[in-house]
Amino acid sequence: MASMNRRQFLKVTGTSLAGSSMAVLGMSPGTAMAEVRQYKLARMTETRNTCPYCSVACGLLMYGLGDGAKNAKSSIVHIEGDPDHPVSRGTLCPKGAGLVDFIHSPTRVMNPQVRRPGSNEWEDISWDDALDRIARLMKDDRDANFIAQDEDGNTVNRWVSTGFLAASAASNETGYLTHKIVRALGMVAFDNQARV
Ligand code: SF4
Repeated sequence: MASMNRRQFLKVTGTSLAGSSMAVLGMSPGTAMAEVRQYKLARMTETRNTCPYCSVACGLLMYGLGDGAKNAKSSIVHIEGDPDHPVSRGTLCPKGAGLVDFIHSPTRVMNPQVRRPGSNEWEDISWDDALDRIARLMKDDRDANFIAQDEDGNTVNRWVSTGFLAASAASNETGYLTHKIVRALGMVAFDNQARV
């Protein structure tokens, strides 16, 4: 105290008082250390999805880091069953429970690919090129092979030279729309990967 002037004395005692007031408010180090740990997924973005593997189509909750800001790079770090899902009620089989590894697999295919006629290599192409190519090939094949009437003159409107395989991750609504489009084109061969 001997080396302390009046201003310094007030500063020290004021700080001590503030510190003891914080303790009264429950902010002492001991209280802070005893606090229950925060739920680890609380600050993550939660997204609902469907397991892509099989016909059960279990519901998923996917948790991603990143707040959606322009330069924030999001990344899925945890996946678990969705307890509100009417099909699976929060359960996942081991394949579904390991989906986070599938998402981050270094061998995961991230682009549409094409194997051109005569080639034994798969080639990455853009989504625009893939969709243009699919539309072009479908139109050409349908124009060439569409059957409006059978040999007895009955209207049949069949397109039997192209088939369609839908994805098992599709919801009921997506499945309904896919079915409508495929049948409206006259396509007969239509199946779903969910049955595989
Ligand atoms: S979690 Fe398992 S049972 Fe459920 S859809 Fe995925 S693969 Fe099928």
